[in-house]
Amino acid sequence: MYYGVQYYPEHWPAARWPVDARMMQAAGVNGVRMGEFAWSAIEPAEGQLDFGLFDRAIAILADHGIKTLLCTPSRTPPPWVYRKYPGVRNTTVDGKLNNAGFRYLIGLTHGEFVQLSERIDRAVIEHFAGHPAIIGWQVDNEVGMGNDCFCEGCRARFHDYLREKYGTVERLNAAWGAHFWSFTFSDFAEVPFPDRLQHPSPQLALEYRRFMSKLNVDFTRWRADLIHRLDPGKWVTTNFQSFMVQHTDYHQMAPALDINGMNHYPARSPAFILDYYRGARGKAIVLEQCTRLGPVDIGEGWMRLWAWMAIGHGISGVNFFRWRQCRWGQEQHADGILPHSGEENRRYRELKRMGQEIRAVGDLIDRTRPAAEVAVLSSYESRWAIEFGVGQKEMRAELDAIRFHTAFVQQNVTTDALDPRADLSRYKLVIAPRLFVVDAAIAANLERFVAGGGVLCLTAASGVVDEYNVSFDTPRPGPLRELAGVEVSDLSPLHAPVSLQAAPILGLFRGEGQGMADEIHPTTAETLATFDGGWRRGLPAITINRYGAGTVIYLGTILEGESLAAFVRYLRGLAGVEPLMATPAGVVAHERVGDGLRLRFLLNHTDAPVTVTLPAGWRDAFTGQPCAAVEIPAVDMRLVTATMNVGC
Ligand SMILES: [Zn+2]
Repeated sequence: MYYGVQYYPEHWPAARWPVDARMMQAAGVNGVRMGEFAWSAIEPAEGQLDFGLFDRAIAILADHGIKTLLCTPSRTPPPWVYRKYPGVRNTTVDGKLNNAGFRYLIGLTHGEFVQLSERIDRAVIEHFAGHPAIIGWQVDNEVGMGNDCFCEGCRARFHDYLREKYGTVERLNAAWGAHFWSFTFSDFAEVPFPDRLQHPSPQLALEYRRFMSKLNVDFTRWRADLIHRLDPGKWVTTNFQSFMVQHTDYHQMAPALDINGMNHYPARSPAFILDYYRGARGKAIVLEQCTRLGPVDIGEGWMRLWAWMAIGHGISGVNFFRWRQCRWGQEQHADGILPHSGEENRRYRELKRMGQEIRAVGDLIDRTRPAAEVAVLSSYESRWAIEFGVGQKEMRAELDAIRFHTAFVQQNVTTDALDPRADLSRYKLVIAPRLFVVDAAIAANLERFVAGGGVLCLTAASGVVDEYNVSFDTPRPGPLRELAGVEVSDLSPLHAPVSLQAAPILGLFRGEGQGMADEIHPTTAETLATFDGGWRRGLPAITINRYGAGTVIYLGTILEGESLAAFVRYLRGLAGVEPLMATPAGVVAHERVGDGLRLRFLLNHTDAPVTVTLPAGWRDAFTGQPCAAVEIPAVDMRLVTATMNVGC
């Protein structure tokens, strides 16, 4: 199993590299990621290529049993590029040319950038191709961040994209309803940029986002293909950024890669992304796991616990960000295992402790993966369409996806997180929260799942617009209304929580709906819960509909806390999904299976020790000793294993 750290040899004197390599080796580190911001170190002036620094650093690390995951560096050019080729810079939404004082501020389609970036990336790949110490490649870093561009050149490319997609401008006009505010186009060349400073056209804004996302995907695929050609046999990845950024549809990017990669910054990004970025591929590597964050008090034990949490969610390798805190620059006071001084500290001790554990059980981890019966769906298109069309923060689709995912995880239920077009055939229960955009492919996929016997849960504000962000001219949830057995005539905000009457759902009686409420009219569905306050008293809040061999639950509001937990238990009961086991509050169980083995992670996220009981047959994964009652210290974990026929 890959167990590594982010390393910047270009930041430190060469005399320090052997010290670092020895310390890493002693901590069980077997890989480093490096090079994503190294263009100026490799080519300090145009044409003066010098790989010596990285040749020597990679060799020293290799002497200590540490392989290198090397990044291509071209999205962060050195100052000489900006000075000599100012055309690489991108333009902000208000028409200003970005200055070169930050990273990534380039236009991916700009001719000078295309040429220069290929030149440097090709040079790096060719130089290190076939190197035995290079285990794989990362395409640049956080591809898509900072790359939106509003220059006339990119606008012309946008027009090309529209021409290819729509064929004729009449078709675009019809799809967008462009006559609104007199925006009927007579030529593609008239299509403006979405006005992000005021109120953009929802149809134009969604299509521009798709276009920029496609540029990010195309750049990644171009580099991945180049690497595969020049250094065959090596795997290629890149790091999907925090879930809260939404510049790129990572489901589109994943097929360009051999393995999905990601940033994992707990406390500011939810555990949801571990399963979402793993996605339909079922496998991902954490390329940046936070070690310390300025605003977050990361106490003893958390760095290691969060890394184990990632592995419990199905991650196949962990790279901590970064080896040592930087002495300079915009991240001077941000992450680092070692402090500025380079001395050993508690984070180094955690790294070392986990390194010993990975050495012992890494093979077991490599042989197993999560096996979920539940999936939560979330699409970038729904997020984009809500942002550009509705604009209300509380409407954000991803928040409901995170809420549901968290509730399942807290009940110790292994849960996948997928794009709504992914194959759902192996799941018993699928939650599709706030599926705002529903196109023909999504509708057919959900219909197939339910008709085949699945239990599907839809939530408020679903089936509102088509693939162009145009409202359906039928009642909501649009193409899903026969499936759901309801017609929704309106959606209103809830300024205060409203009680629910929900006798059939244990624990939800007197629960509360929050945030928003759909006005639901059942057609073939039965009402499971009603609102119990204000003018909505007696109106349906939750319905159930039988369709084919399956069932559709429609939740017309937002549930949180205990209400959501009760609702999730009800859904599990309908679908026959059992939790892995019962655990005390704050303790979460994850499981990976494979090769006839079950590998269970018991994570104590509390500040107090706990005891967890297991049936006969479970053994400690490190000692092999049978364990019936497992003591877990505060902020710590236990790993237990059993054969597949052993009970929960
Ligand atoms: Zn541009």
